[in-house]
Amino acid sequence: MNKDDLQRHLVDICHRASDRWLTAGSGGNISVRIPNTDRYLCTATGITFGDTAVENLVEMGLDGKQYGGDLKPSKEYRWHAGILEKCPEVHGVVHTHSTATMAFGILGMTPPHMTGQARAHLKKIQIVPYADAGSEELRDLMVAAYDVEPDTRITLMSNHGLAATGPSLLEALNRAEIVEDSAQAYLHCRLLGQEPKLEF
Ligand SMILES: [Zn+2]
Repeated sequence: MNKDDLQRHLVDICHRASDRWLTAGSGGNISVRIPNTDRYLCTATGITFGDTAVENLVEMGLDGKQYGGDLKPSKEYRWHAGILEKCPEVHGVVHTHSTATMAFGILGMTPPHMTGQARAHLKKIQIVPYADAGSEELRDLMVAAYDVEPDTRITLMSNHGLAATGPSLLEALNRAEIVEDSAQAYLHCRLLGQEPKLEF
C-alpha cells in the first residue's frame, strides 16, 4: 500500500471506529506504520474519529519528529511510537475508550474470552497501571507490557481506555471491536443473573 492509500485506509478505519461507538468525544487515537520506513501516520489531537480526514492526519518519525502538517499529533504519540519501535511485526495501533472494556480496566480486571472468536483473536490481555495520558511514564508502562509479553494484543490502561495492536491496522481494529463485544457479553450475562461458563 503506498502512502496515499495508507492515508485513506487510516481515515476509513477511524470512521469505522466512530460508527461502532468505540470512543467518546475526541478521545482515542489510531496510528499505522508506513511500511519499510521509520515513520508512521497518526490521528491529530482534538479531532474526533468521525472528523478524521486525509488533510488532518499527521506523519511522525519513531524518534518523535513531526513531518509537516499544521496540526499536532495526538498527545498519546509517545507510546504509539514506543510500541511500533519495540514490535516490528505490529503495523497498526488502535486506542479507544470503549465503555465495557474500560469498566474492566478500572476494576483492574481483564474481560474473559466469551466466544471462540475472542479466544482466537485476543489471546493475552494485559493491564497497565494508571499514568497520565501523554506522559513519558505511560509510554514506559506500555512498552514494558510488550517487553513482558511480546504477543500482547490488548492492553487495558487503568481508568483510561484500551490499546489494540495488530499485524495490520484492520486486525488491530477487529481486536478493539472483539474485546468490547466480549466485555459486553460478559456484563449482559451478569445482568441476566448468571455467571457465564468460560470453559467451552
Ligand atoms: Zn485515551
